[in-house]
Amino acid sequence: MSPLREVITARIGAEGPMPLSEYMALCLMHPEHGYYTTRDPLGAKGDFTTAPEISQMFGELIGLTLAQAWLDQGAPKPFTLAELGPGRGTLMADILRATRAVPGFHAALSVHLVETSATLRDVQAETLAHWNVTWHEGVEDLPDAPLFLVANEFFDALPVRQVERAEAEMWRERSVGLQEGALTLGLSEASPLPALDHRLEDSRPGDVVEFSPPAQAVAASIGAKIKARGGAAVIVDYGDWRSLGDTFQALQAHEPVNPFTDPGMADLTAHVDFEALALAAPCAHSRLTPQGVFLERLGITQRAQALAKGMSGEALTQHTAAHRRLTHPQEMGTLFKAMALYPEGAAPPPGFEA
Ligand code: SAH
Repeated sequence: MSPLREVITARIGAEGPMPLSEYMALCLMHPEHGYYTTRDPLGAKGDFTTAPEISQMFGELIGLTLAQAWLDQGAPKPFTLAELGPGRGTLMADILRATRAVPGFHAALSVHLVETSATLRDVQAETLAHWNVTWHEGVEDLPDAPLFLVANEFFDALPVRQVERAEAEMWRERSVGLQEGALTLGLSEASPLPALDHRLEDSRPGDVVEFSPPAQAVAASIGAKIKARGGAAVIVDYGDWRSLGDTFQALQAHEPVNPFTDPGMADLTAHVDFEALALAAPCAHSRLTPQGVFLERLGITQRAQALAKGMSGEALTQHTAAHRRLTHPQEMGTLFKAMALYPEGAAPPPGFEA
């Protein structure tokens, strides 16, 4: 039995079934045996690949939209350039390289990363060796300054609660229990859940609804900073404005696996409900925009052509495939969405519409 399975089995034995959100949090972030605690999961040899690992163009264009938002808001200094869940640090490195020529941007910024995994902090420190970087456990610890922030595939890693609609405006929560030694999903007694009153209208008995209290808390915190001090947050993830149904999934070596077989060994995610983030943030939000549309508006095709001029053979083939993978509707172009948070009264960052 894997060490984390032992921990979880013992806890359920002592305390009874745990909500799915608690199971997800333990699997991903247990301080000794959690998935992110024990490995660098990114890339071809890992379990999944993200947009910044596919092409430098992704980070370059995000850097330019953040820098333009900073200019549009009067180039405040000093300011915080932050990333949530920076993985290998590739996205931040691309942002910093692409913004070198923006007058005053580098002189005014300090780099802040929110990352709980010590393993990935080490990788980020190496990637960003030439930069003065400060790490934080949570967004509450970000400095009190204008905040320009990016979060790519961060919110999908935050624990979700799953509830099933019952009769009479009630809900049953899905929790992880034990049946003959195996981890299995069960349902709690039906009870009202005022936080989901707005989902009574679009759900029927038997439907599964997900919500992530930690994701809403993060959006509330960064939205409050942007409201008070100015700034912008670019959030990219897979999901929709509002999702209905079970989107909880486990990925290992780029293949879906059963999330309850080997806790701590697979990446666990759920689709992001952008509406919940927009509602939680006390500032303006842009329209939800498909990633492909967002990157096209920022000029990814021109950038791809410029980079292609210096390439040939295998490098050119890979570069062309990467452009397609980031933008094509059958690849990441529509499954992934982007949304910006920004101050009321300010213009949305380039690539977004109010
Ligand atoms: N943004 C990167 C990596 C995405 S993987 C990229 O696009 O390549 C998810 C990242 O979020 C990892 O760095 C993981 O360690 C981090 N993470 C997950 N849950 C977190 C939490 N609760 N607090 C801070 N970081 C978290």
